[in-house]
Amino acid sequence: MLAFYADSFVLPLPTGHRFPMAKYGRLRERLKTDCPGVRLGQAEAATDGELALVHTPTYIAAIAQGGLSAAAQREIGFPWSPGMAERARRSVGATLQATRAAMAGEGIAANLAGGTHHAYADKGSGFCVFNDIAVSARLMQAEHARHHRMAGGPLRVAIVDLDVHQGNGTARIFASDDTVFTLSMHGARNFPFRKEPSDLDVELPDGCTDAAYLEALEVALDELSHRFEPDLVLYLAGADPHEGDRLGRLKLSFDGLEARDRRVMDWAWQRRLPLAFCMAGGYGTDLETTVQVQVNTYRVALEYHRRWAAAAVQRGN
Ligand SMILES: [Zn+2]
Repeated sequence: MLAFYADSFVLPLPTGHRFPMAKYGRLRERLKTDCPGVRLGQAEAATDGELALVHTPTYIAAIAQGGLSAAAQREIGFPWSPGMAERARRSVGATLQATRAAMAGEGIAANLAGGTHHAYADKGSGFCVFNDIAVSARLMQAEHARHHRMAGGPLRVAIVDLDVHQGNGTARIFASDDTVFTLSMHGARNFPFRKEPSDLDVELPDGCTDAAYLEALEVALDELSHRFEPDLVLYLAGADPHEGDRLGRLKLSFDGLEARDRRVMDWAWQRRLPLAFCMAGGYGTDLETTVQVQVNTYRVALEYHRRWAAAAVQRGN
């Protein structure tokens, strides 16, 4: 299974900054030892043209040239630097490459970072600069349209956002786009405090445990199935619903999160829908807790990748 990383492009942060940047490198190390079936590739940078499928030219230029106001940088939560701009482009590139690989017959592929769902068309927020998921959805739709000349209609994309925070940027970007279905399951009382309406929002109470969470997921996937027929699934496998997370406010166990990942991947597999996933948030009090949740996601994904590979062999390609 292919997975793309951008952690070699360093986003310089002041000492004591609360964002756990080290988790990305740790995940890559752990995958090398624990998941040898994952083939790691370095992300290419997304181009201006790709970013412009979602973001405004003014915002793209401000990130490229360091023209962000102090307030805009505070809202993102990272100080601007050339390294920050490069890192943001690579993170989008990693999701683009994963999505393209999944669509091209791999069936399932990943970004070791990404899931920057708080980014809007014209601004960043909550540690998110560009919206990688939104750019990937739009680029795949454009490539699909070019290959198929719109025969059969536009590519339909379901975004399943299970990060503990609401996917507000993504919801707004696709608010009036009925070719993209946005599903967000998140803590009702968590950031962002002004939420945007997704196609389907599921709000969870503080302290939500495995059984209640998995039941809510089942109901949500069922509703998604009834309302929308996707050709592609983009999955934000946030680690922040875990009980050891310092921002999440929910109480999911390792087993609960693994069952969650399996349910989403199985839902896509049953329909033979290509799926690309990214890591989104994770702020474990102990960083290793976050990384363990993520490694478990890859272990489950490898099982589904094997199924896609076996099905390809059977078809004789
Ligand atoms: Zn989050």
